[in-house]
Amino acid sequence: MNIHSLLNEGARDIMKTLGRFYLNNPRGVAFLASTLPQIKNGMQKRDISEHSGLHIPPFLIASIASECNLFCAGCYARCCGACTERGHQADLSAGEWSSVFKEASSLGVSFVLLAGGEPLLRRDVIEAAVPYDDMIFPIFTNGLLLDGDYIDLFHQHRHMIPVLSIEGGKAETDARRGDGVYDRVTSVMKRLKQKKMLFGASITVTSNNIEAVISDGFIGDLHERGCGLLIFTEYVPLEKDTEALMLSVAEVNRLNDAVTALKGRFTNTIILSFPGDEAKIGGCLASGRGFFHINPSGGAEPCPFSPYAKYNVKETPMLEILQSQYFAKLQALAASEESHEGGCVLFRKDEEVRAILGA
Ligand code: SF4
Ligand code: SF4
Repeated sequence: MNIHSLLNEGARDIMKTLGRFYLNNPRGVAFLASTLPQIKNGMQKRDISEHSGLHIPPFLIASIASECNLFCAGCYARCCGACTERGHQADLSAGEWSSVFKEASSLGVSFVLLAGGEPLLRRDVIEAAVPYDDMIFPIFTNGLLLDGDYIDLFHQHRHMIPVLSIEGGKAETDARRGDGVYDRVTSVMKRLKQKKMLFGASITVTSNNIEAVISDGFIGDLHERGCGLLIFTEYVPLEKDTEALMLSVAEVNRLNDAVTALKGRFTNTIILSFPGDEAKIGGCLASGRGFFHINPSGGAEPCPFSPYAKYNVKETPMLEILQSQYFAKLQALAASEESHEGGCVLFRKDEEVRAILGA
């Protein structure tokens, strides 16, 4: 099966699991009834492009905020300068992001992951995404700004799905994110569960927390709290001197085995793992293969973990970026890795990526 078919199968799996999550939930069933045909429509658009020789990825990552209200240890967004204390004057406006969403929708993108900094600091952009209900917007948030107004907005517009960052239990989460963060995040989860809304948890897996986050106790607890989406991301040491937090090859294998077992047990929970799942679909999905990343000022990067932009969506249409030699060369570089042994491919090939950027 080629990458296009594999990604379509992945998208179908996500929607099927969503169906199981929302079984017996009238509001969720109504959301799926209106959204599933639109997701299929996006898939058909991508099919048509694929047949004409143009590969459109189903996912896009949009980092809409260059500020954050937290200072987590080893934050990749702060390390690569995408997130600062003063923000960036050059940040895209809500209108410019709306144009990005419009183009993504017309190309057949189905999932736009909103990240930051802290995306909930950009209410204007969040509201600009609301009309694009033919796409699903998982919103990666630290959860501290997820107040009653936001909960009402997401309750009304189920294609906007909050994904709360958590590092394990109270000890692990507060150690990386700050005192009291775990309690605040779990109290938000309680409110989301009361409203019977789908929400997710985003877990950065390090050599310190791996045992905690793959334990039955932790996953069972999140399930009890109503969490229907789990995203595991292996720690990438963009911050100097944090290499010890990276998973060893044995730990990567342990995580992958645990994720496979969890998928078998929690069949109404969407469970994704990066880069782990990429190994099953032929490796690195960056540079438009499965997605690409737009930073807060519009720079089009292969991936948040390879933050090098040659083009900006303010000047260059996304279609042109997807067809660029820059992305083609980066895809070829990632594919040149003989085996996907775990960890981030483009991070390992950082020097070659910079050389392609400068060429
Ligand atoms: S919440 Fe996210 S963006 Fe903000 S400091 Fe923590 S890891 Fe970085
Ligand atoms: S650059 Fe790294 S994290 Fe990003 S898609 Fe490739 S392997 Fe995965």
